[in-house]
This record gives sequence, structure tokens and C-alpha cells, in this order.
Amino acid sequence: MSRIVVLGGGESGVGSAVLAKVKGFDVFLSDKGRIEDKYVSVLNQWEIPFEQGTHTEDLIMNADEVIKSPGIPETAPMVQKIIGGGIGIISEIEFAGRYDSAKKICITGSNGKTTTTSLIYHLLMQAGLNVGLGGNIGKSYAYQVATEKHDIYVLELSSFQLDNVYDFKADIAIITNITPDHLDRYGYNMENYVKAKFRITRNMSNEDCFIFCSDDEITVSHLNKIVVKASQFPFTQKEEVAQGAFVKGDRMIVRYKEEECDMYLQELALGGRHNIYNSMAAAIAAKAMDIDNEAIKSALSSFQPVEHRLEKVLSIGNVLYINDSKATNVDSAWYALECQTRPVVWIAGGTDKGNDYSSLVPLVQEKVKALICMGKDNAKLHASFGGIVPQIHDVTSAADAVNLASRLASSGDVVLLSPCCASFDLFKNYEDRGRQFKEAVRKL
Ligand code: ADP
Repeated sequence: MSRIVVLGGGESGVGSAVLAKVKGFDVFLSDKGRIEDKYVSVLNQWEIPFEQGTHTEDLIMNADEVIKSPGIPETAPMVQKIIGGGIGIISEIEFAGRYDSAKKICITGSNGKTTTTSLIYHLLMQAGLNVGLGGNIGKSYAYQVATEKHDIYVLELSSFQLDNVYDFKADIAIITNITPDHLDRYGYNMENYVKAKFRITRNMSNEDCFIFCSDDEITVSHLNKIVVKASQFPFTQKEEVAQGAFVKGDRMIVRYKEEECDMYLQELALGGRHNIYNSMAAAIAAKAMDIDNEAIKSALSSFQPVEHRLEKVLSIGNVLYINDSKATNVDSAWYALECQTRPVVWIAGGTDKGNDYSSLVPLVQEKVKALICMGKDNAKLHASFGGIVPQIHDVTSAADAVNLASRLASSGDVVLLSPCCASFDLFKNYEDRGRQFKEAVRKL
């Protein structure tokens, strides 16, 4: 019996271990940290041997193949040993793809993955199809392949999940956009990061469909250097295209093969220019899945925003509080500021990932009346926006940020949490940050 060792006991690793067990492998899971109780119970329930708090080499180096969770970097000593020992390393997505004959719609990109993935899922569900939602979102793909049966999967794939795919093939692949992010995991080399994203197009044939943003210079310039066999469908807000999606006046138009579908931008449930991109990408994917125009329009206009993404929390005294805690990089905060039409009290800050804030300066100058820096080290925000924003204040909790914001904001303003930064200095993660923000708003 061949032996599979899974590194990492989170959603992805545990899902992979369950699938390996179902497929009859000798499975072992190892996590150097602590495994959450809910995952320990799943492992026990499926009688999968595991360890936590350590990696026992003897139990790992006898593997025929290793499935590495996306959170573990390739530079981790155990991973280096495995590579040195000549043992193949794959990702959960590669492994699960081997046992899944469903049609796969896969979404990657620097920003907009979750929104676009959820939009497509909503579209296909509304159309009555049997769809699974997975990858970086919800239940792991591997766990679903092990325990459920779907005709179609919509998979959100981070670049880390794409790092170790080899034979996996998407039927429809989407790259929403590519802007600098996570460069610490790619040797501070943008090219490596771009190549990881483009792994989503591996193994595609001309019957498959590749959807991308042709306004995104990094995507287009890489696309010009490589061969993608799939039929290409760009989406753009700059020009009319013969195939793909574009904006004309106040309408969004999708052209797919002989068909055309159009709808008023005003009818889209999600506001902001970035969400026009996401809606266009989703609509092309829907056309490629043969969904009719009325169903597309109805789904795109009924979609509810995903939590922590430009989520309207409450309006108090005509001040609107918006939770965009998921804006963990500069580009996402740019779009959040860009779509604001009212004066903004902006809450930003956290763990800086090597940010360059200069692209935000014009928007900040135009819209932001006060900046509240919510992080342990706010020096870079002060250096970038001092002299540009009339008032800058420092706080170290969501409650203080919200209380101060409520004093600084006047009727007609917006209080926008769009941090530009990761959350790990003061919060567990971006969800925790967003929830604490919402709780503080509800207590006002
Ligand atoms: P991801 O899953 O790629 O992190 P999300 O859909 O969760 O993307 O959105 C993350 C952040 O980026 C949110 O603040 C959201 O408002 C913003 N965003 C969403 N779509 C886009 C886009 N197409 N371009 C830029 N920013 C976006």
C-alpha cells in the first residue's frame, strides 16, 4: 500500500488526509504546530494517525508522496529534507483533482478571488446546477471529493495552492488581476509570484476557457510571453472587445462566441469599479457554462456582499460604517477609497507587507478627512500621509478606532475600515478584526 504523508493539519491538510484514507492509502498527518480541536475530531473519526507539535522524520521520510498544506513555505526545514530525499510534493488541489471528474472553474488573482468565486457559485446555484464551492473558501476541495458528489466545482485558488499543482486541469480558469502581494513567499521576486498565478492555466486545451483582465498590465505582459492553449476571454473597462466583457456607457456587455448578454451597471448588486470587473469575470464564466442571460442578470443583481469586503455595517446619524477588513494590500484599499462618494474617515494599518502607499495619495488627498492608524507600528502611514490628511491619530484597538471615528465623522461621512495591511499585530486574523470593528459600531 503506498504511503501518503500530509504536512499541515488545517482545512486543506485534513481534507487531503480524509481523501487519501477513502482512496485506500496508508496515511499519516504531521503538524509542527497545534491542530485545532475540530480537526483532531475529524482525524479521529476517520482513524487517521497524526502528530502535532513536531515532525517525526522517520514517519515522514518513508512517504511515497507528500501533500503539503499551502501555509507551509518551501523553505521550511522539513520540506527541504523531503525535497532532498527525492520525495514528490504535491498540493491538496493536485491530489483531489486526480479523483474528480467534475467540471472545474478555478479562480485566482491578487484581489477579488473570494468575491468572484462566490458570485460564480451563486450564479450556478441559482441556475439549479449541482455545484461544490471550495479551495481557499469554505470546506476543502479534497474533503468534498472524498465525501460528496458534484457535477461542477468552483474553486478559489491562492498562489500557494497553485505552487504544487502539476497535472491538475481547470476547464475554466480566471485570473482576476495581479498586483504585488505575498512577495515574502516568492523570494521578493514578482516574476515568481506571477508564474505561480499562471499555473492555473497549465494543461488547458483549446476547448477550455481562460478569463483575464486585459486592463491589468502585469497579466497582459506575462500572457504575451507564454502560450496559453485555452480560448481567451478578456474583461476590460477601457475598450470594446469582440470576445469577452466590456463596459459601454452605463452597461456591461458580455460577448461569448455568438452570444451577447448585457445589463445596466446600476443593476449589479455589488458596487465599486472593482466589482464591475468581478461581475464581468463571473458573467463570462456563466456564459461558458451555458447559463441563459436572464439567469445571469438575476443572479448578478441579487448577490449579497461577502462579509468583510466593503460590507455596509450600519448608518448612525447619517454616518455610514463600512467593514473592508479583507483589504490587506494597497490595491484593494485603492478600490475601496475609489468608490467612496462621501468624505471618508479612514481606519488603516496593521502588519505592513512592504507596502508602497504612493498610489493612494491622490485618492486620500481628495477624499480622506481623517486617518486613524490602527497598528502597533504606524510610522510608515504617518510618513506617507502626514501633511496630506488634515488629521492623523493612533489607536491600538478596534473599539478605540470606532469611538474616535464616530467623534471625527459628521453627518454625510463614511467611516471606512480598509486597512491595507495584514492584521496579525493586534488581531487573530482579518475576520477577527472585521468582527471587532462591527461589534464596536453596533455598540455606538
Ligand atoms: P481575495 O479573495 O482575492 O482576497 P476578496 O474578494 O476577498 O479577494 O476581496 C479582498 C479585498 O479586495 C476587499 O477589500 C475587496 O473589496 C477588494 N477587491 C475585490 N475585488 C477586487 C478587484 N477586482 N480588484 C481590486 N480589489 C478588489
